[in-house]
Amino acid sequence: MILVMGGAGYIGSHTVRHLLDNGYEVVVADNLIYGHREAVDERAKFVHADLLDPYSLDNLFKNNQIEAVIHFAAFAYVGESVNEPEKYYYNNVIGTINLLHAMLAHNVKKIVFSSTCATYGEPQYTPIDEQHNQAPINPYGRVKLTIEQIFADYERAYGLQHIALRYFNAAGCSADGKIGESHTPETHLIPLVLKAISGERKDIKVFGTDYDTPDGTCIRDYIHVEDLALAHSLAVEKLGTYNGCVNLGTGIGTSVKEIITAAEEVSGKKFPTEYAPRRAGDPARLFANNTKAKEILGWQPKYTNIKDIIQTAWNWELNRRY
Ligand code: UDP
Repeated sequence: MILVMGGAGYIGSHTVRHLLDNGYEVVVADNLIYGHREAVDERAKFVHADLLDPYSLDNLFKNNQIEAVIHFAAFAYVGESVNEPEKYYYNNVIGTINLLHAMLAHNVKKIVFSSTCATYGEPQYTPIDEQHNQAPINPYGRVKLTIEQIFADYERAYGLQHIALRYFNAAGCSADGKIGESHTPETHLIPLVLKAISGERKDIKVFGTDYDTPDGTCIRDYIHVEDLALAHSLAVEKLGTYNGCVNLGTGIGTSVKEIITAAEEVSGKKFPTEYAPRRAGDPARLFANNTKAKEILGWQPKYTNIKDIIQTAWNWELNRRY
């Protein structure tokens, strides 16, 4: 059985469905602060648990035959991490240490972890490979890097088997429209653009049009959430044969203006765009070298066209359940 911590969240819930579709037994644990109970597939067992409650973690391992853990449970707002670092260090670092403690107490040594390209900080070159220097520029990224380092120490001392997946920009929703992205507050570009199109928001602000990029707006690597889900199940299979980190991105860069144009084409609607100053801490371009994911995990992204990715998010926006 696989334990998915944070399996009621955006990437977690898509991964849970993928695991179930591929014959795994899954127990989902979530504190439902940001997660959605409706996002958890009914084939999975659900347990209300919190990383800061060691008793609930211990019970999870006592009551379920867990072989491996996929750990998504974390606060994930970059801006909030700057203003409230304690919330991030306390929940995300101490919470992970509690999780590892419960795992080791029950002789479970396999973990796949949600890391991020934010651990690299300001890119020195693109595409970014895993050898790129890690110098995060905000507490969110520093917390993720700290956890990667904890894994390496636990590997040496306790034989932990770990793969940290460094996501670029997660995007899109399940192809059948059953589950999708729902954050409160929403800060991510694609859902905000789609809310501007549907009329739920007044307009969309483009943060910076004077970057050193072809159209002056920031370039990111948008990776479909079902491609992320696939990578997690491949990583679970590789635990024990490889320890370390793997980038997850398509390797394709798309600018903010290109996202807006693609969303207009997908929806067939135009909407107001406002040009705004740069957002602090946004590098001009971030996209992945994904060779290692292909070589180590045998992974290949299915979605490489941004319009296809946005189409799945648009389907969800029109018929969202939560
Ligand atoms: N962005 C924007 N307007 C918004 C939200 C985001 O122009 O309302 C830009 C942001 O500056 C970045 C890109 O869209 O260049 C992706 O931002 P997002 O917050 O989705 O992800 P991030 O790259 O920060 O993880």
